Amino acid sequence: MKSLRVFVVGAGLGGLAAASCLRRSGFDVTVFEQAAALGEVGAGVQIGPNAVRVLHQIGIKDGFEKVAVRPISLDVRDWETARIINTITLGDTYEARYGLPYYHVHRADLHTLLADAFEAVAPGCIRLNAKCIGLEQLNSEVRLTFDDGTSAVGDVVIGADGIHSSVREALFGPDNPHFTGMVAFRGTVPLNRLPPGLIECKGYNWSGPHHHFVHYLLKGGSLVNCVGVCDQDDWRVESWSVEGDMDEFRNEFTGWHDTIQALIGGMDSCFKWALYDREPLAQWSRDHTTLLGDACHPMLPFLAQGACMAIEDGYVLAHCLRTHDSAAAGLKAYETIRLPRVSRVQLGARERGKTLHMSDPKAMAKRNAQNAADPAMRAREMDWIYDHDVAAEYGVLNEPQPASR
Ligand SMILES: Cc1cc2nc3c(=O)[nH]c(=O)nc-3n(C[C@H](O)[C@H](O)[C@H](O)COP(=O)(O)OP(=O)(O)OC[C@H]3O[C@@H](n4cnc5c(N)ncnc54)[C@H](O)[C@@H]3O)c2cc1C
Repeated sequence: MKSLRVFVVGAGLGGLAAASCLRRSGFDVTVFEQAAALGEVGAGVQIGPNAVRVLHQIGIKDGFEKVAVRPISLDVRDWETARIINTITLGDTYEARYGLPYYHVHRADLHTLLADAFEAVAPGCIRLNAKCIGLEQLNSEVRLTFDDGTSAVGDVVIGADGIHSSVREALFGPDNPHFTGMVAFRGTVPLNRLPPGLIECKGYNWSGPHHHFVHYLLKGGSLVNCVGVCDQDDWRVESWSVEGDMDEFRNEFTGWHDTIQALIGGMDSCFKWALYDREPLAQWSRDHTTLLGDACHPMLPFLAQGACMAIEDGYVLAHCLRTHDSAAAGLKAYETIRLPRVSRVQLGARERGKTLHMSDPKAMAKRNAQNAADPAMRAREMDWIYDHDVAAEYGVLNEPQPASR
């Protein structure tokens, strides 16, 4: 196929990873981002071995190792007593099991690495202040229009513009999200504000009635990332840029173990996000346009795979465009490969949410007993996700191709 002009709308984690994969496959890539400056909202993100494989393929290895944290385990604990219900050993055990480690990383650090990796192979190809407001399929090209009145014509458009994707809406109309009745509070605490030894280099998942609380270390272990999820019906704003109320966060976790009190007490501020769920889409592509990441498979955060799936998407998309004779066939093949896997993760995250937020004491006791009886069960359940090896399936992306422009 001739060297296509590929437009990626959105410079989030998914869009930037895709841009590097596409550029390294020889395409002429431009990323359009609505923000005035590159950056990421929020703090931590968990990156499983399946996504680490993609990062390595686009040259993000040593830099990532420097900023990311390798947790030694994931502890599931009782909300009130801190009793350990289940421990999954991560660290070297995970590396031996999946060939690569499991990481916790600050989103801004990962975002910077992704932007630098793309800049290294496509200097000056990210356009900021470029909010896409229109998309038109021409004969064999696509025209994007932006809110400053400008437009651009390319061969292929990738909508990587997140959960409220305007590209998705242009292709398939408005979506129909379902409010889950759950709200997530998110904040960070400098480790030096907490009693020494309180937080180890682990992931923690505290499980209580109608609530759960996850925390882990970032920034070389100097910062604790916390997410508290509660059943709550009166907040419907799906955005990380909206500040939450610290008193409300504290009240939601009244009666929880002292560790949780110390964590919430150590925060200066928090964000509040209403969790919406969506059915898997039946279709992602039309003509020369497709979708990627949250734009086509927004998922509840309970398997910690939304960003990982977005990162995998770009690798497969680049492979499909490389190996098909026409852009439309490549996009169709991408959708056919990705849709079943990603839909399964979407639905799995939904089920995990139900298990996490049980409130009936008998059901909770039964769940905890099952977890305690078979501590490896949870790890086994994730094998099909973490084992996925994009390089083995779709070929390696070693060196950048020479620039075509
Ligand atoms: C509480 C919580 C915890 C999570 N934890 C994890 C985790 O541990 N691990 C994990 O893998 N995932 C996690 N996720 C999911 C993850 O955050 C998302 O799946 C991921 O960020 C999606 O990336 P994206 O690039 O598709 O979209 P986004 O990150 O939303 O990026 C979209 C980009 O498009 C830009 N944009 C939007 N509209 C336009 C437009 N019209 N024109 C131009 N640009 C536009 C935006 O400014 C943004 O830069 C979590 C999510 C939540 C809510």
